[in-house]
Amino acid sequence: MINKIVIANRGEIALRIQRACREMGIQNVAVYSEADREALYVKLADESVCIGPAQASQSYLHIPAILSAAEVTDADAIHPGYGFLSENADFAELVEACGFIFIGPTAANIRTMGDKVSAIQSMHKANVPCVPGSDGVLGTDDETNLAIASEIGYPIIIKASGGGGGRGMRVVHSESALLNAIVLTRTEAGATFNNPDVYMEKYLEHPRHVEFQVLADKHGNAVHLGERDCSMQRRHQKVVEEAPAPGITEEQRNTIGERCAEACRQIAYHGAGTFEFLYEKGEFFFIEMNTRVQVEHPVTEMITGIDIVKAQILIAAGDPLPFTQADIEIRGHAVECRLNAEDPETFMPSPGRITQFHAPGGPGIRVDSHVYNNYFVPTHYDSMIGKLIAHGADREEALVRMSSALSEVIIDGIKTNIPLHRRIISDHGFKSAEFDIHYLEKNITNTA
Ligand code: ADP
Repeated sequence: MINKIVIANRGEIALRIQRACREMGIQNVAVYSEADREALYVKLADESVCIGPAQASQSYLHIPAILSAAEVTDADAIHPGYGFLSENADFAELVEACGFIFIGPTAANIRTMGDKVSAIQSMHKANVPCVPGSDGVLGTDDETNLAIASEIGYPIIIKASGGGGGRGMRVVHSESALLNAIVLTRTEAGATFNNPDVYMEKYLEHPRHVEFQVLADKHGNAVHLGERDCSMQRRHQKVVEEAPAPGITEEQRNTIGERCAEACRQIAYHGAGTFEFLYEKGEFFFIEMNTRVQVEHPVTEMITGIDIVKAQILIAAGDPLPFTQADIEIRGHAVECRLNAEDPETFMPSPGRITQFHAPGGPGIRVDSHVYNNYFVPTHYDSMIGKLIAHGADREEALVRMSSALSEVIIDGIKTNIPLHRRIISDHGFKSAEFDIHYLEKNITNTA
């Protein structure tokens, strides 16, 4: 039984988890840094605990402070949200060692999936299709590495095994640049991720990013909730997401989705998870698994009617999944725009006071945001200030609704990427779903 949850996060996802708790009759505890003292989700929480100064390293990433908050409020469980400590296996382990329930998979699963090389190896075993690449971490023998690359065929991409957030990757177009690129990526990976291991993959030139949402319980049941397309990216960061992915057939969805669910059963995974794939010329290639709730989870919720955060909590409490694969139906289409406090031309962060905020509404519109009139966007964290989600009977209706929502929304006092979203939603190539992961930078922001 879970009666009280500490939400170890901030911003829109803290509010999102709080809403799930309220629906389930579970008490919620907000933890906050000094910079978030005035945040509405802190005031709306059943209880709140200040866990430290503005710097994330001393608050949202400070494990002892979060565990103490759970201790003093007599909570049963901790929900990590996304980012911060959500994929930190040591944190998951400590949470459980201190007698709380971690709302997420086991520390062992987080560790395996957090290391991209071990993740790929376990996916190979589970028959999930992967990108052709080196079988494991690259060694230091130059001749061997040159041979592996020519076997895969150029262009190739060198990736940090411990990488994340779109960092720690380098594309190599010819043999002459290979050895230097390996050394550089290894050095960067050591400095940034504290793990110098790198591996090699075929660089796919025009893929789309298509990912599958899964839910698995502690009793060996696993289902997939279909896929999302997240190809609209800038610097490997998602900007617009949608579900289902345009052009994916029901047969592809069922085949790949079931392989992901089967992989969960094989590795005894429980919780929510996302299998990320690159999709090119009708084929799927696994790149990584995220062992937490994703920013873009609402588009899947809109088309399946399943509340992913409530499912995470039920699973953590030990309940069996309340539905089977046959119960899951995909209805209509949903699209999400990530709203960032940033200059829409230069992409420089634009924190500060929001002097006017007006949320859009109408049929099929959902706004997941913690901001309000007179809210001060702090300088210390990610620039995302919320998400606009539109659901329609089909893609066309979802996009028309999104377009209407984007014309209604008002956020004054700071710069936001709303003008960029208006351009994306009205773009011909986007509307006709003729895009790959480079489309946004090449055709819309012109920053490629
Ligand atoms: P991260 O954990 O940093 O997000 P990923 O492995 O998920 O790293 O890759 C992030 C993005 O980098 C992908 O969405 C894609 O745009 C690009 N990418 C990664 N691997 C490849 C590849 N083999 N070929 C082409 N692009 C790739």
